[in-house]
Amino acid sequence: MANCTNCAAPLPPGSIRCEYCGSRNDIDLKGINYYTTNEPESERICPRCNIRLRTIDLKLEGKFLVERCDQCLGLFFDTGELEALLQATVTNVFAIDRSRLDAAVAAKLGDDYGVTYIKCPVCTKVMNRVNFGVRSGVIVDRCKAHGVWLDGGELRRLSEWMKAGGKLLDQERQDELKRAEAEQEREQRKARAQSAAAGDYSDYPGYGTYGGHDDDLFELIKKAVQFFTR
Ligand SMILES: [Zn+2]
Ligand SMILES: [Zn+2]
Ligand SMILES: [Zn+2]
Repeated sequence: MANCTNCAAPLPPGSIRCEYCGSRNDIDLKGINYYTTNEPESERICPRCNIRLRTIDLKLEGKFLVERCDQCLGLFFDTGELEALLQATVTNVFAIDRSRLDAAVAAKLGDDYGVTYIKCPVCTKVMNRVNFGVRSGVIVDRCKAHGVWLDGGELRRLSEWMKAGGKLLDQERQDELKRAEAEQEREQRKARAQSAAAGDYSDYPGYGTYGGHDDDLFELIKKAVQFFTR
């Protein structure tokens, strides 16, 4: 449980805003010891506060720049950067801790903003809300072209999720999903072969519409969630 750096009161679960003094607490970058805000203001605008984001250097294996809002402490990561950061800061996880993952999902209740759609700091198009991973309890805002926005506190929750083995669980689910898809594919092939033997070719690809595979990671995760929560 984190405490307010201003008045030391315990912070509500899943929130970075102190209920007593109203301060926002930066709990995301505490685990990263050396970062600097000496970089210039960026052209990008905070989707929550409408002020300029500041570029900060997390100094992970050299330069690692992300953008942060000084007011709401939200962070913007260019495509792929968030995954790289989580990989770099959370290592040596070999087991899935299900009770810790349950706790991560429970923390979701403290969400500061509720369901709102916000604009990409780069192109200002409305971003998609995407479940970052199976049972992470974190819904991130994502622009397919530019990257991911995390509200203050969400980075810490994601690293908690990684530490609890959430990434491994994700991988497990994806493997199961792929196996289920392969099985389905085999069944369909069998059915097609049977109807072809009966002189009916209407089920073959090339007849009518046939959707290809979408290998996009987030799409896969979404499908996996739908599949396993049915
Ligand atoms: Zn406080
Ligand atoms: Zn902001
Ligand atoms: Zn964008």
